[in-house]
Formats: sequence, C-alpha cells, structure tokens
Amino acid sequence: MQCSSTHFTAGHVSSQRAESMNARIKEYGNLKKELTKYNLNQLLDHLSGIVQDQEAKTKSDIKSYIKKGNQWCKSVDDIWKNENILANDFDCQPRDQSKLIWHAFRHDGAEGSHEVRLPTPPDLDYASCNCSYFTSRLIPCRGICAVYFRVQNPLFDISTLHPRWRLSNYPQYDICVQELGLPVPKQSTDCG
Ligand SMILES: [Zn+2]
Repeated sequence: MQCSSTHFTAGHVSSQRAESMNARIKEYGNLKKELTKYNLNQLLDHLSGIVQDQEAKTKSDIKSYIKKGNQWCKSVDDIWKNENILANDFDCQPRDQSKLIWHAFRHDGAEGSHEVRLPTPPDLDYASCNCSYFTSRLIPCRGICAVYFRVQNPLFDISTLHPRWRLSNYPQYDICVQELGLPVPKQSTDCG
C-alpha cells in the first residue's frame, strides 16, 4: 500500500492470492459439509426413487408378459431372434453318436466355432454353448439356433432357454401373478 517496490507488490499480490485460495478451500470445505448434510440425502432419495420407479416398471412389464402368455422378456426375445437370423450362415455336425453335442461353424469359416450341447434334463435343462457370446449372456447363440434348425427341435421354447431368463424365475414373478389374481404356480418347497 505504502510503497510501490516491485518486490513488495509481488509479495502482496501473492499473499492476496494465497488468502483468496485459502478462502476458496475453506468455502469448498463448507460446501462439502453442506453436501454431506443435505444433498447426499437428496441424492439418496433421488436414487431410491429411480430404483422404485424401475421396480414398478419391471412389475408392470412382467404383468403384461404374463397376460400375453410370454415366458421370457422382449429384450431377450429380440436378441435370440437376431441370433436365429445369423444362424442362416451356419452349418453343423454332430460330435458323437448321441447327437447331443454339436459343432456349429460358419460356411465361410469366419468367426469362431460353437460347441453346442442340447438339453439333457435333469442335468442340463437348457441348450448350452461354449462360445463367449453364450457364456456371457446366456441367451441362445447363432450356433444353438443353427443346431436346433438342423435337428428340428422347437427353438423358441422355454426348454431351450437358460433358467436365468425364464420369467417365472424373476424375483417379482410370484407377486405379479398374485396381483393379477391368478393362481400362483405350485413350486417345490422353498429352501429359504
Ligand atoms: Zn455359441
């Protein structure tokens, strides 16, 4: 203030900067406190609202599937049907006499091959494949679709689908059935 020495000014400016930085840090600290007090709760309310909305939507979807007699959801159905279209490019050969294990491959040799296992209940009650597509999604792959076409098994049947995607295995399924006023499907004793 009193003196216009460059050193002093520089020092003064830098100390002002430091002060304002300190103020900001303090402000940021307060802001963080405010966030923990209020906004985190609001955020949680918001997130739990989203979860509740999603649950309500899932239930309403399941109910509409039940009413239509669908046994799996539309997104699974879309992927599965698309794989079935891609199966047109595939050929397959049985791996053994039993014809329960098949090798499926593209005509042109592109893409990896698929080792498909047909269901053999009760050990394996769905069609399975060793490809990464099936092992990651558990939705019938093009290889499975090609084999089903070859052996003339009904492809779009619940017995083909991995239990994970069967609507009746969804956690909200029984409640939805009850809320629709339908008889709850009898299941073997629940082991809690
Ligand atoms: Zn496959």
